[in-house]
Amino acid sequence: MTTLSNIFENDQMQIITSEFTRLGERCYLDNAGATLYPQCLLKNINEDLLNNVYINPHSDKYTQDCIEQIRYHILSHFNTDSSTYSVVFTSGTTQSLKLVGESFQFAPDENEVLNCGSLVYLRDNHTSVVGLREIAAEKNVDIIHISHEDFLKALDPTKVSLPTNGREKYKNEGNTLLVYPAQSNFNGYKYPINCMDIIKKGCLNQYIKKQLCKINCSWYVLLDAACYVSTSKLDLSVVQPDFVCLSFYKVFGYPTGLGALLIKNSSANVLNQKKYFGGGTVDIVLSSEDFHVKRKILHERFEDGTLPFLSIIALKHCFDALTKLIPKIINNDIMDTISHHTYSLAKDLYHQLGKLHHENGNKAVITYMDTDFTDISKQGAIVTFNLLREDGTYIGYSEFQHMADLFNISIRTGCFCNSGSCQRHLNASNKEMKDMYNAGHKCGDDVDLIDGKPTGAIRVSFGYYNTFNDVDKLIVMICRCFVRTKYNKPKRTMNDFIKLKSLKYAKNISSEENHKINEEEFFEEKYSTIQQPLIKSDIVLSQISLFPIKSCGAFKINTSWKIGSKGFEYDREWMIIKDNGVCLTQKQNTRMCMIRPKIDLKRKVMILYFKGLAPISVPLNPLENKHKEVTICQSKVCTDLVKGYDCGDEVANWISNALEISFLRLVKQASHDGRVQKTNTDEDKKLLSLSNQAQFLLINKATVRWLNDKIQEPLFMEDIEQLTDRFRGNLIINMDEELVERDWQRVIIGKHEFRVDGQCPRCQMVCIDQQTGEKTVEPLRTISEQFAGKMRFGIYLSYMGPIDGSREHMLKINAPVKPIINDEDISR
Ligand SMILES: *Cc1c(COP(=O)(O)O)cnc(C)c1O
Repeated sequence: MTTLSNIFENDQMQIITSEFTRLGERCYLDNAGATLYPQCLLKNINEDLLNNVYINPHSDKYTQDCIEQIRYHILSHFNTDSSTYSVVFTSGTTQSLKLVGESFQFAPDENEVLNCGSLVYLRDNHTSVVGLREIAAEKNVDIIHISHEDFLKALDPTKVSLPTNGREKYKNEGNTLLVYPAQSNFNGYKYPINCMDIIKKGCLNQYIKKQLCKINCSWYVLLDAACYVSTSKLDLSVVQPDFVCLSFYKVFGYPTGLGALLIKNSSANVLNQKKYFGGGTVDIVLSSEDFHVKRKILHERFEDGTLPFLSIIALKHCFDALTKLIPKIINNDIMDTISHHTYSLAKDLYHQLGKLHHENGNKAVITYMDTDFTDISKQGAIVTFNLLREDGTYIGYSEFQHMADLFNISIRTGCFCNSGSCQRHLNASNKEMKDMYNAGHKCGDDVDLIDGKPTGAIRVSFGYYNTFNDVDKLIVMICRCFVRTKYNKPKRTMNDFIKLKSLKYAKNISSEENHKINEEEFFEEKYSTIQQPLIKSDIVLSQISLFPIKSCGAFKINTSWKIGSKGFEYDREWMIIKDNGVCLTQKQNTRMCMIRPKIDLKRKVMILYFKGLAPISVPLNPLENKHKEVTICQSKVCTDLVKGYDCGDEVANWISNALEISFLRLVKQASHDGRVQKTNTDEDKKLLSLSNQAQFLLINKATVRWLNDKIQEPLFMEDIEQLTDRFRGNLIINMDEELVERDWQRVIIGKHEFRVDGQCPRCQMVCIDQQTGEKTVEPLRTISEQFAGKMRFGIYLSYMGPIDGSREHMLKINAPVKPIINDEDISR
C-alpha cells in the first residue's frame, strides 16, 4: 500500500494535489456537497474567455456550434451519442427533476386525463425528488413510495417476481414514472441500475394500486444520478434509464448553476406536457392569440431562454482538466480510476472508525451504512456515522462540527436533504420526526440531539483530490476530541506524511497557517496540572473589558467606564471588513486578537497597537458626514445590516499590513444605526453595538477555575487570567462558587441593574489564545463534555438602568455585585 492512495502512485497523487493548494491546511471531506475544481481549470477557462468572442447563441452560429460540441462531449463521457440520448441543459439536478415531473404524460394518450399511471419513488430519495409528488398530485396521479428493503427485494434478480400474466400488452393503461437515486447521497449506497429491463417488465407492479395498471402500465425510469456520477462511471451503452439528471458542480466543482437532463430519444415522446415556453423554445408564437408551436428538436423544446453559454463553454475545459489530471489506471477509464481511489479511502475510514473504542471497551462510533465495503459496485465513497460517548450516549453532530471547524476539516452534518434515509438509519418514526419539529428542530439547524436521540449524522465524502492523509487527519481529530485512546496511525502513512506536508505547503505558507493545530504534537506526553489558589472575596466587579473593534484585542479598564445606549461606550463600535464587504472575525484570522486598541478619552482618539508596527490613532467620533457611508452585512445570512462610516485609507492600510490581508477597511458603526437584539420573545429589545447577541457578557472567574480543573489536556497550560481572556467578557467577577451565575435572572452592579439574557453559546473562538492567536482544542472540548454538548459559558446582560434614579451611568471597578435569582428575591 502506498502512503497516499492505493490506486495512484505518490508522484501522480502529488501532481493532483498540487492543483488544490488553495486548501492550505484545510481538509476537505464534503465532496458529495460539491467537489473541488482544480486550479488549472479556472486558468484555462479564463484564457479561453479572454481570447475568444462568445455571443448569445441565438445570434451567433459559432457559439452555437461550440455548445453542440459540448453536448457531444457530455454524451461521450457517458459512453453514448446523440442517436440514443439527448442533452437538455438545466440549472441542475433539481430543475431536471422538476422538468420531467412537469412534462411527463401519466395518461395513456396525450389528450386524455383519466387512467393515469403513478408516480413511484423510493423513500430514501433526495428531498428534490420527494417534492415531485406535489406536481404529480395536480395531475391526478397515484403517489406511491417504496421502502429501501422492499425496493431491493423487488429488484433482486434471484427473487424477482414478474407479472405471471404472460400475454402481450394490448393496451397502454397509463404511464408510471419511477424515480430513484443511482447512489444515495446519505451514505453512498449504490442502488441497482442494471435492471431497467425488469422494471419495464413490471417487477414493481405489485406496488401499483390501480388494478388494470398492474398489467398494462408502461414504466419509465428517472434516474437521479447527481451523487453517483461525481465519483463513478455511468455507462449509458449498458444501462439505459429513460431520463437521467445531474449537476455539473458535483462532477467538476465548476461551474455552478448548470446541470443536465439526459433523455433517451425513444422515450422522449412522454415528455410532452411541458406548459411554459420561453425564448428559443418555440417555432412560432402569436402574442395576441393563443397559438404557439414548440420546437421539434428535443433540447430546443426544453431550454427556455438564453442558455448559460459561458458556463457551458467552461464545461469543455472541465472535461479536459480531468483528462489531463487523472491517469487512466483502472479499466483505462478516468471515472473508474476515480471511483477506485475514492472508494479505497472511504473503506479505510470505515475500518478505522470501526476500530475506535473507548477505554472501557465501548464502541465510539456507530455507522449508518448499507454495505460493509466489500463490493465497489454497491458502495460509493461516503461514510456516514455518529459518535458515542464512553457511557453509550450520543455526541451531537453540532458538537462534532465545532471541533471539525477548529481542526479545519470541512465536513457535512445533519440529514443531507435526505430525510427518508435519515429516518431509516436513525430509527425515527414519522411521529418522532414531527415531535422533533415541534420541539424546535428544523432542517439545517444545529439542534443535534433531542432527548438524547440524534436528529442527524456526520457524513464524510471523498473526491479524487483526497488522500489517506485526509482520512488520518479526521481520525486524529476524533481521537483527540472524543475518544480518549491513543491513535495508532496505520503503517502506510508514517513515512511520507510529514514530507508531503512540507512539500505541499512550503511555498504557500500564509499568515493563518502558523496557528494550526499540529497533529504531530498531539500525542506527546506532557502532563502537568496547574492549581490556582482560590482567592477569597465578596462578590465585586473585578474587571471591565472593552473590545472596541469587533474580534480584536481587549482594552482593560481599572477605574470606571460609561454605559451607553448600546452597552459600554466604544465597546464593539468598529469592525474590520474585507473587500467583499463582509465582516472579518477571529475565526478567519486569529491574528486579529493581537491588534490591541486603547481608548484615550482626553485626546478623543482610539490608538491601535500591533507588534512590529508603529501605533496609529483614529478619532473616536469622526465627523460622520465627512466620511463615506457604508452598509455592511454583519452576519452570514445578511439579514443583519449595519450602517457605518469608513475610517479612511491610513488606518485601512495599517490593518491590512498587520493582518497580512489586502484591502481591509475599518468601519465605525454610525451613531444613528438602530441595530437591535434578536430575541425569540417580545420582551423589550435592546439596542446593540456590533456585538453578536447582547450588550454585555459577564464571566465568573470561579467558573473559569472550575473549568480549568476539568481540563485534562496535557498540552493545555494556561493561567486563569489567560483562560478568562479567551471568553472575552466585558464584566469579570470573582466569586467563591462556580456556575451559580447560570441561575441568575437579574443582577445589580454598583448602582446599576442588569437583566440576564441567557447563557452565551460558544464556538471555536474560545480556542484562540488571546495573547498569541494560537489555536488549541481546549477549552471547547471540555466545555462540551461538561455540559453534555451544550456549549455555553458566561451570561449575557442587558442594561435596565440605575436603581436610584440617578443620571450617573459610570460603572466602577470593585463595585459590589448583587445577584437576583428570582423576582421575589429582590430584597437580598
Ligand atoms: C445533490 C443531489 C441532488 C440535488 O442536486 P442540486 O444540484 O442541488 O439540484 C439530488 N439528488 C442527489 C442524489 C444529490 O446528491
